[in-house]
Amino acid sequence: MKAIAITPHEPNSARLVDVPEPQPTNDQVLVRMVRAGICGTDAEINAGAFGDAPPGFDYLILGHENFGQIERVGSRTARFQVGDYVVATVRRPCDCINCAAGESDMCLVDKFTERGIRRQHGFLAEYYADAEDFLVKIPPHLRAVAVLLEPYSIVAKGLWQAWKIQERMVWKPRTALVTGAGTIGLLAALALRARGLEVVICARSKPGTLNSQLAQEAGVTYVSLQDTPLENIPALMGDRVDVIFEATGHGPTALEALDLVTTNGVVLLNSVTSFSHPVTLDADKLNMRMVLNNILAVGIVNANRRYFEMGVRDFEHFQARFPGILERMFTRRVALAEFSTDLFHQRRGVKTTIEIHPE
Ligand SMILES: [Zn+2]
Ligand SMILES: [Zn+2]
Repeated sequence: MKAIAITPHEPNSARLVDVPEPQPTNDQVLVRMVRAGICGTDAEINAGAFGDAPPGFDYLILGHENFGQIERVGSRTARFQVGDYVVATVRRPCDCINCAAGESDMCLVDKFTERGIRRQHGFLAEYYADAEDFLVKIPPHLRAVAVLLEPYSIVAKGLWQAWKIQERMVWKPRTALVTGAGTIGLLAALALRARGLEVVICARSKPGTLNSQLAQEAGVTYVSLQDTPLENIPALMGDRVDVIFEATGHGPTALEALDLVTTNGVVLLNSVTSFSHPVTLDADKLNMRMVLNNILAVGIVNANRRYFEMGVRDFEHFQARFPGILERMFTRRVALAEFSTDLFHQRRGVKTTIEIHPE
């Protein structure tokens, strides 16, 4: 079958390859990929920053944002039927207590694997095989947007965990600031809007990009950091920012967010890059502010199946509340055979998908 693979740690090695089709065991289903999304993580793997091949392979099939259809069930599988639409989670558990409890996103010992990232082949391929425990059923009416579920899963996790931890007190958040207006930032803005918050999203670009238009159509205020520096945004929000969802992938912004959130507020840190930005900061001042204002900062990585399932419910709500917005996030569709690494160098629009078996 055709797939997109990289040679780990070799810059710009992503290429179309011919590899054997996966052979599912009796406990696995075979999934025919409809489309895969690509994102900054894939670009960084292609750049050689990280990414590891499965044992016994010298290549890694790329791809973690996925949507497909069950092609074949196993003799010992029960949850799916041929033709069901599915999205697979990314991380596969190790034997630590969190992984054993179904919470591999909270793995303790770093022995987990991740499809398309770390020691397991990904989904940029015509087919994949997997255990049904890692698959989430997608209602057919969400099939056009379901490839966004994987990036959304960390939004679902972040908000669920923030609200859960904030049960530490009476907490009635009114305002949220999302930093970064890429796919995850936009999805987070929709989710916070859907929870009834007043939402501001900020990014570098001047207003007028599709990203800014989609935000505004969802009732979110878009602020360009070229017009308003980050530290001045709380003043636009009545000096009250209850939640900051950080999705820029820029470390200094994450630190600055800790200083902008309101008393008892939450900063959700959701993005990383392999860059390095040393900063000088007044550690005592920041520490004092966090202590005296009960500031909560939470790092959010990966998501287990529960959060994908929450995402399915949230997407149904978004389709009713923000009709057409998820669909318009798909700005570039490329056939599998047309794949080239230029896709990683010409980052534009919101979401690029690789169409594998488009419907
Ligand atoms: Zn991604
Ligand atoms: Zn583990």
